[in-house]
Amino acid sequence: MRKQIAAANWKMNLDLQQAEQLMTQLLATDHSLGKDQLALFAVPFPYLLTVQQKLAGKTNAKVAAQNCASTNNGAYTGEVSAEMLKGMNVEYVIIGHSERREYFQETPAILAAKVNKALEAGIKPVFCCGEPLTVREADTQNSYVAAQLKESLFHLDKSQLTDFIIAYEPIWAIGTGRTASSDQAQEMHQHIRKVLADQYGQEMADSVSILYGGSVKAANASDIFGKPDVDGGLVGGASLDAKEFAAIINSLK
Ligand code: PEP
Repeated sequence: MRKQIAAANWKMNLDLQQAEQLMTQLLATDHSLGKDQLALFAVPFPYLLTVQQKLAGKTNAKVAAQNCASTNNGAYTGEVSAEMLKGMNVEYVIIGHSERREYFQETPAILAAKVNKALEAGIKPVFCCGEPLTVREADTQNSYVAAQLKESLFHLDKSQLTDFIIAYEPIWAIGTGRTASSDQAQEMHQHIRKVLADQYGQEMADSVSILYGGSVKAANASDIFGKPDVDGGLVGGASLDAKEFAAIINSLK
């Protein structure tokens, strides 16, 4: 059975003390995770070890990196490789967030290389896709998202994509307070699963956890996560509030 996942994306927020405090508060807030459920904490690189220590011994809660390099170790000042993350026992990495695509000019080819590096290191990518508002308004979101998947993932073989994690994040809903309706989320998630099934078969498509991201909060999480093809969420703003994120975890199926 595919995993139901609540993934926090802290982005470039919090100082170290605030990060520790948030984790302490969250761990003290009532939340529970079942066998097929997972909480991920995508935190800034400097906080990975601290947050990992806070989660020590928990099998269903793990840290994630927010990015990795598209190359192996070498003369790339400021970069962090998948090998380095692996050496720190980091098991997950976000790849292709729309903010990185836009502000750091990450192209589909660069993202494909990052996915390769993560997989080579044995790290699971959380691959993000999603359309801008203009595409949604033109009603061409399905082909746009299908192209994002094809361009950065379809060089992989079926075994590499089995149990994969994809986050659908419509750009017009990220950090805007404007959430896709649960029906819009379901429609796109079903489409993504079909695109995967057409390429790799239904069994592989059914193994993939597809998360929704875009202004998820405690108040809308149950409605969105309740849809059959929505396997949890990638959560920005609301993951910086312990009570909100605990409630989002509790909204997983
Ligand atoms: C995100 O950053 O991935 C995100 C979905 O942000 P927010 O929840 O704040 O919209």
